[in-house]
Amino acid sequence: MDNTPQSQESLAEYVKRIRTALGLSQTELANKAGIHIQSLGKIERGLTTKLNTKSHRGLAIALQVPSEYLDAVSRGIPINCADRLKFCPHCWTPGTTLEDFWLSPRSLFCFLCGTALRDSCANCHEPITSLKFRFCPYCGTPYKESFDSLASTKTQ
Ligand SMILES: [Zn+2]
Ligand SMILES: [Zn+2]
Repeated sequence: MDNTPQSQESLAEYVKRIRTALGLSQTELANKAGIHIQSLGKIERGLTTKLNTKSHRGLAIALQVPSEYLDAVSRGIPINCADRLKFCPHCWTPGTTLEDFWLSPRSLFCFLCGTALRDSCANCHEPITSLKFRFCPYCGTPYKESFDSLASTKTQ
């Protein structure tokens, strides 16, 4: 499934498309996202174009998409990197934007330090849903690794 927002795709179209692809009814998605069915209806009818924090977070998790994608569709900004969120666990500072080189589908290692790039939690392997998170929302493991923990994984 391609969960990347298409060009010109509205928030309403995007949410509906991903929901359908996941085989969820409106009720199921609303339950999963922890939002009211009427709020979801408004979003899918294009009446709500700006998500509040709760709907934003809930929908990103329920639709299994990075919250940056929801940001992009609600603001009408195309996603440049068609690939998943990737970062260097050593060089990246949580909360800051990612280097374009990391996001390139062909990049596997950090161009600055050579560390293998990561697109999921080191502990539970859930995909990274937002770069605003410092910790994995599923298991609480910090995304950024210190030098010490990197050194210990290398020597294992
Ligand atoms: Zn690096
Ligand atoms: Zn995790």
